[in-house]
Amino acid sequence: MDTRAFKLALNHSDNYHRQGFGHKAEVAKVLDSEYQSSLIQEIRANNYLLQQGDVTIKLAESFGFCWGVERAVSMAYETRQHFPTQKIWITNEVIHNPSVNQRLQDMGVEFIPVIEGKKDFSVVASQDVVILPAFGASVQEMQILQEKGCTMVDTTCPWVSKVWNTVEKHKKKNYTSIIHGKYSHEETIATSSFADKYLIVLNLAEAEYVCNYILNGGDSTEFLTKFSRACSAGFDPDRDLQQVGIANQTTMLKNETEQIGKLFERTMMKKYNPAELNKHFQSFNTICDATQERQDAMFKLVDEELDLMVVIGGFNSSNTTHLQEISFERHIPSYHIDSAERILPGNAIEHKPLGKPLEVQSNWLPTGKVVVGITSGASTPDKVVEDAIARILEIKAAALV
Ligand code: SF4
Repeated sequence: MDTRAFKLALNHSDNYHRQGFGHKAEVAKVLDSEYQSSLIQEIRANNYLLQQGDVTIKLAESFGFCWGVERAVSMAYETRQHFPTQKIWITNEVIHNPSVNQRLQDMGVEFIPVIEGKKDFSVVASQDVVILPAFGASVQEMQILQEKGCTMVDTTCPWVSKVWNTVEKHKKKNYTSIIHGKYSHEETIATSSFADKYLIVLNLAEAEYVCNYILNGGDSTEFLTKFSRACSAGFDPDRDLQQVGIANQTTMLKNETEQIGKLFERTMMKKYNPAELNKHFQSFNTICDATQERQDAMFKLVDEELDLMVVIGGFNSSNTTHLQEISFERHIPSYHIDSAERILPGNAIEHKPLGKPLEVQSNWLPTGKVVVGITSGASTPDKVVEDAIARILEIKAAALV
């Protein structure tokens, strides 16, 4: 399929909207009242520090809603306002935050149902409106919706679109896109749908395996088994790894994406000699600024003296999980929660340890003085961070700890 031509045609369609509907100012007031926090503004103004009783809260210098998420949520609210009576669907969570998604559902925005792992678009009628989320939708999904003739409101973040454009460039030159990401993540599913040939690598270890194959060959059956869910149909590692371009899921760890890019660059230089590099390797910087800023701020925060970290964000949020990984690597006790309600009465917390299911931990706040580092993922409103801080302060003030 000519995905570029499809997108161009879509951009010119009257049923397709990539901007708001002129209600931005009104919606901004509603969003401020629902998601912003005066306490967080005060803490920001106080050098990201709050001191109360035995508790010191240190906030990361960059956290929470990124502009891409703010834009998507704002467009979703505008859509409701602009189409007050029409049925509105969303192809997936608009962002990875349970409270925001619940709020949208309360406003009558419904998720496309999933039956046996597949989205059931038969529920969408031509007069309906369908919102595409911040991390995009696959080109096949957009095609289905276009054929239905429904109205599409595309909130895909421009940073994600930039990656899609990169993948288009790879395709034009017949390069295989090496996508650093999670093959089951919606953004990576959407990105790979624009590629002709692609291979998704999760981390540096997988990239090393692929580069070793490029240099030394190997067992293609083993290769295809390892990447069975992470490569394009008909992928042949002996044929399709001679020209590669790098792309990424925008919320992966920045350093790892860079390392993977450099590893493939060195590998292609070694295999084909440096003078031929441009014929075998392409790389563009597609790391999103917001992800980079939040990760940099987290690296700075974990350099400080902290007793523990609280990382707030959806459990399926990739960028939040990466923030959690940073504190895990520094051996700081770290609690990933998706809402303040996970901080339970008494001194207990229901949290998600890295790579494990939810668990409840008692006595998580130590007695006496405590320094708590806090950050939140790009999909988390400040209001949720405020509520979590309030609960921590309550527990300590009640002399429960
Ligand atoms: S994290 Fe980056 S790519 Fe993702 S929505 Fe925010 S600004 Fe866009």
